[in-house]
Amino acid sequence: MLGSWQVLRCKSQVFRNLSTTSLKCGSGPKVAVVGGGAAGFYATQQIAKARPDSVIDIFEKLPVPFGLVRFGVAPDHQDVKKCISTFNKVAELPNVNYIGNSTLGKDFSFVDLKRCYDSVLLTYGTDEDRKLGIPGEDLRNVMGARDLVSVYNGLPGYETFPVDLDTDTVVIIGVGNVSIDVARLLLSPVDQLRKFDVTEAWLEKRLTSKVKRVVLVGRRGPLHVSFTIKELREMTKLENTRPILHKEQYLPIQDMLAKLERPRKRLIELLVNTALKEPDAKTAERYNNAKQSWELQLLRSPVEALPGPDGKSVAKLRLAVNIPKGDSVEQTDQIEEIETGLVLRSIGYKSIQADPDIKFDSKKGIVPNEDGRVSPGVYTAGWLGTGPRGVIIDTMNNAFKVAGNVIEDLKGMQEGKPGREGMPHLPGHTTWQDWKKIEQVEEEAGKPKGKLREKLWTVESMLNAIKS
Ligand code: NAP
Repeated sequence: MLGSWQVLRCKSQVFRNLSTTSLKCGSGPKVAVVGGGAAGFYATQQIAKARPDSVIDIFEKLPVPFGLVRFGVAPDHQDVKKCISTFNKVAELPNVNYIGNSTLGKDFSFVDLKRCYDSVLLTYGTDEDRKLGIPGEDLRNVMGARDLVSVYNGLPGYETFPVDLDTDTVVIIGVGNVSIDVARLLLSPVDQLRKFDVTEAWLEKRLTSKVKRVVLVGRRGPLHVSFTIKELREMTKLENTRPILHKEQYLPIQDMLAKLERPRKRLIELLVNTALKEPDAKTAERYNNAKQSWELQLLRSPVEALPGPDGKSVAKLRLAVNIPKGDSVEQTDQIEEIETGLVLRSIGYKSIQADPDIKFDSKKGIVPNEDGRVSPGVYTAGWLGTGPRGVIIDTMNNAFKVAGNVIEDLKGMQEGKPGREGMPHLPGHTTWQDWKKIEQVEEEAGKPKGKLREKLWTVESMLNAIKS
């Protein structure tokens, strides 16, 4: 069933395990997957199934796996993280190795990978957020939504990241699902967030937060919002919070609803109804009693962030009023100002060139590819190849398609390259069993607090948990 594959301790012990578990070796094709997120695991699943004689090594820079599923998906959306049960099964397949705490471009190179593996699949995702390019963007308290996400989700490197919630109004630029996630995490009752795996640092910030109003700014009109209906519905139901939608932005689109295709139609209908329809008595009472609000301010483009009296921290955001022109907009000279102490860019993520030898389109922030093929034997899947769009199911479909190409190109190959046995020594790399120890420590730490888990935040604490 498993072909020529076998579990054995690798001939030369080039990898020093923190645990004593053997790595899995074999003589068939060797596949390196760089990035232990959704794209990496889904692609591995397909390749491992189609080629049981192959050995697939998943390289991940952190000791902990799952990329954006752990560090991006909102902690109160645990249902989205159910894919982890599939990833667990993939990691335990007899021809799959997880090699954590190992960074491409630092601990090993792209040239090493190409020399040692028959197929190299890059799936290391998006590490940066896009910038607006407006004056004042460098002011204190103007930051990426991604920074906030990293603070509430416990991404290593963000343990002491300064997020100041000592402001009445937060402005989020962009009207996608990340904006909605961040707005929800800023406004949801702390007691409801507490049971998930939100960091204690975020819960503490929320307890002293002065934020009462979150304004989401979209450059186009209501027909072009990027968030989805489930996320919008959640916002309309948020406890102690009322939505503010500006009627004049919805009146002109009422008649267009009939022409829209589902599911877009349902989303826009919900927006229009929330903006224009009188809520039922119960909802009206809830909105009237609400102490907080979230506001959708559309047809506005940020043009400048202005400092307060200290000259360093943001105090105002200037917005230009836009008028719709088909699917686009035209910016007018009309300027509005919002007083705010925190401005978050949420206009999309972008990838980085992890190694200078990787082909990279720095304008688009992706590895250029055709259906995942980059060059002979080199592939990319997930947001590194497609750009930052779609939900996990889209990433899965993309990863399956690219994996299909890897499998196709490996056809007929019996004897593979050396795989990790030819790779440089990776001191301090971690294994799947090491991650399982970390997971156990996190779950134990969460129990007394009634939390799903208390995430270990630093790489050092993760490595200590493995040793313990
Ligand atoms: P997104 O959906 O692409 O939204 C980006 C927003 O930024 C859009 O409103 C876009 O407006 C705006 N924007 C882009 N450039 C801008 C600029 N220069 N100035 C002003 N506005 C600008 O991206 P995202 O919210 O980062 O989400 C990424 C993907 O992850 C999406 O597919 C999303 O659905 C998914 N996701 C899903 C969930 C969930 O399922 N709950 C949660 C988080 C993320 P234009 O449309 O005008 O360009």
